[in-house]
Amino acid sequence: MEDCIFCKIINKEIKTDLVYENENVIAFNDINPKAPIHVLIIPKKHIETVLDLNTEDKEIIADIYKAIKEIAKKLNIDEQGFRLITNCKEYGGQEVMHLHIHLLAGKKFGENII
Ligand code: AMP
Repeated sequence: MEDCIFCKIINKEIKTDLVYENENVIAFNDINPKAPIHVLIIPKKHIETVLDLNTEDKEIIADIYKAIKEIAKKLNIDEQGFRLITNCKEYGGQEVMHLHIHLLAGKKFGENII
């Protein structure tokens, strides 16, 4: 999608701190981190929200979770653990309309969402 900031990141029109890439997915550090480690995992296909995922995207969904596992190992957070968040639309606080998973780590999270 032309004016999608995450599509521009995928097309390397905008530079990011890349953490991981596979055929269907890229992951990069959030520009405004909310935790010591804050990585965004996104599909290369422009999918707006979690509600727009379909059966045809099952390989992408599998690759997203494969990426999370690889990133957890790479960043050495697989023992301590981490938090995953996906915001959806207005009430979920989704600002970028390209599906993404926030991976937050490096501290122990309590009851608060972040
Ligand atoms: P959300 O509010 O769930 O849509 O999250 C969007 C996230 O994208 C926010 O945490 C932003 O800090 C992050 N973000 C926006 N632009 C960039 C960028 N150019 N590089 C890295 N992260 C970004």
